[in-house]
Amino acid sequence: MLVPGLTGCLPAPTHVRISTEGQLVSTRLTVVLADITTLAVDAIVNAANSSLLGGGGVDGAIHRAAGPELVHACRLLGGCATGQAKATPGFRLRARIVVHTVGPVWRGGHYGEEGLLADCYRHSLEVAEKNGARSVAFPCISTGIYKFPSDRAAEIAVATVTTFMSRSTTIAEVAFCCFSGSDVDHYTRLAVLRG
Ligand code: ADP
Repeated sequence: MLVPGLTGCLPAPTHVRISTEGQLVSTRLTVVLADITTLAVDAIVNAANSSLLGGGGVDGAIHRAAGPELVHACRLLGGCATGQAKATPGFRLRARIVVHTVGPVWRGGHYGEEGLLADCYRHSLEVAEKNGARSVAFPCISTGIYKFPSDRAAEIAVATVTTFMSRSTTIAEVAFCCFSGSDVDHYTRLAVLRG
């Protein structure tokens, strides 16, 4: 298990690709045990609710750290559907951009929850890329109040991000920001299985 603040590298999903300028570029996936509001990345992803007006868990922490300007910016977005993503500035955060996505509520797995969770990761990366982000940090979307099983959520997160990264021309680093040791274990176990 990682000590808070330390990062670990997920070795298997590292890619080398050719940039538009014809250079070899390596991309990296990492796992970190941290409060996502402290991370110095270009974009952090918020596991929001569909109102985008703030809530509990990571959403509340991001709103508190970004300051009241964030909810004003969110008000202009007019909400967000499950699986979609929208961006605001990061205001007082170290991150320049917050990508707000709405994860599915777990209802037993028979209501498209897995596909919707993959949509969150893919659409968040698309929005981050459109805003010029090179580094992005994700929380474990839907695994708190929305009760998505954490181990399956980690598999979906790594698979979706890995696929996206193999063709992204902008994003060079994605961090999976865990808030508990057991989530870190889910991500590192995946790396071991894949390695
Ligand atoms: P959801 O409603 O999508 O389940 P939650 O905020 O309840 O969203 O939980 C999503 C994940 O974010 C959980 O794994 C929770 O432990 C984690 N989390 C809560 N606060 C933070 C934080 N400050 N930084 C990173 N992750 C956090």
